[in-house]
Amino acid sequence: SADAVADFGLIGLAVMGQNLILNINDHGFTVCAFNRTVSKVDRFLENEAKGTQVVGAHSIEEFVAKLKRPRKIMLLVKAGDAVDKFIETLLPHLETGDIVIDGGNSHYPDTQRRYESLTAKGILFVGCGVSGGEEGARYGPSLMPGGNPEAWPHLKPIFQAIAAKAPDGAPCCDWVGEGGAGHFVKMVHNGIEYGDMQLISEVYHVLRDGVGLTNDEQGDIFAEWNKGVLDSFLIEITTDILRYKDTDGQPLLEKIRDAAGQKGTGKWTAISALDYGMPVTLIGEAVFARCLSSIKDERVRASKILSGPAATAFTGDRAQLVKDLEQAMYASKIISYAQGFMLMREASQQYKWNLNYGSIALMWRGGCIIRSAFLGDIKNAFDSNRELENLLFDPFFQRAMATAQAGWRGAIGAAVAIGIPTPALGTALSFYDGYRTARLPANMLQAQRDYFGAHTYELEANPGTYIHTNWTGRG
Ligand code: NAP
Repeated sequence: SADAVADFGLIGLAVMGQNLILNINDHGFTVCAFNRTVSKVDRFLENEAKGTQVVGAHSIEEFVAKLKRPRKIMLLVKAGDAVDKFIETLLPHLETGDIVIDGGNSHYPDTQRRYESLTAKGILFVGCGVSGGEEGARYGPSLMPGGNPEAWPHLKPIFQAIAAKAPDGAPCCDWVGEGGAGHFVKMVHNGIEYGDMQLISEVYHVLRDGVGLTNDEQGDIFAEWNKGVLDSFLIEITTDILRYKDTDGQPLLEKIRDAAGQKGTGKWTAISALDYGMPVTLIGEAVFARCLSSIKDERVRASKILSGPAATAFTGDRAQLVKDLEQAMYASKIISYAQGFMLMREASQQYKWNLNYGSIALMWRGGCIIRSAFLGDIKNAFDSNRELENLLFDPFFQRAMATAQAGWRGAIGAAVAIGIPTPALGTALSFYDGYRTARLPANMLQAQRDYFGAHTYELEANPGTYIHTNWTGRG
């Protein structure tokens, strides 16, 4: 109709929605804005959106009428019931082929459920992970859309225009896969973020207490590392944090209480790793490390009664330990991403999502917290072999692990000897050694299970046939 002036509709005028609308507007698309509390529409048009092409609606009917077909409607409302409520409200006004996108932080099983129910009704549903916060929404987020692939050709020009750009100019947005894939991948992204942060924190702990460096000296080391294989947003902000001085000239970092909070997306990743039976050990340890940190008072009491080496007892080559820590962080990071991709592969197989691994690496290269040069290497690995079984099977990463290995073992050995906990660095190495071991001691587990529970076992010489032994010889 003549009223249908808008290329895109967006519901939810809180910080994310407002910023995303202005971003879309900047790229030449007309956006129609709507919100549950309708008064916010005019307030937005008269203030933040003044002088733009943005139009508003004061009812669902008016909103839907203002959208060109197929309608493209994004919800940026509070995750949970609000999403279901708005979908219900919209449904009677939509036509077959219209597109509904949930850009909030929805849990992927909800997205999978909404995708299935809307597919049955002829609506193309997309769950889109949005990363980069307020600033990202305004000037370039990382966007991870998944759901009904028929929606993608209609969304691609808008989404790739507004997304962050990688250093080579490629947009940090591509089609992720089907069903709940977009929100699943966003969840794994957040889990990997937990892992990267924990690795940096462990290395900082060894530099501070083991090597005995000042915050400024550590800042210089991180600045140097940011020019090499660890080049990333998180290493960059760590440098700034280490160098930041409080008003009294002392490093602010050392005054911050060491009890970490969490909002739960790392936990979701760890839970899904357990659900799918995938050894995503580094993210698991990163979540547990936050849990251990948060029982601060108990740790303070334990610190007074439990014996162990003092962190200051390191007597080895300090310069070598610093070098080893860089290798340890790099190798562990490779393991963490390999584990994350193992989890995505398993979920993708179970849900038939048809995940696009190279694109996932590309989407994470810019706009989001885990952006790094290293993700370019992951993208290359999947580009050169779309069927790559595991990141560690890629020749580049095989070589990287071979090179980093001596330093990795050295750094963990030093930390163990002086009693500095390195759960993420350590679990990564254990995973690596387990993954490259053809014969693990699980034969013992099988024998024990058969002994006490008659769970049966297979013989190495005859896999697939399960037998039981009467281990005690008693009847
Ligand atoms: P928010 O505070 O999560 O949600 C506020 C918006 O949701 C308002 O438009 C509000 O409408 C609407 N809303 C709340 N309850 C509702 C209900 N029961 N029915 C209908 N509408 C309801 O907003 P936000 O911080 O902009 O985030 C939006 C989404 O993006 C969330 O899922 C969030 O987790 C996700 N996200 C946020 C960030 C970030 O940095 N903030 C980053 C990435 C993703 P009223 O104005 O009428 O109250």
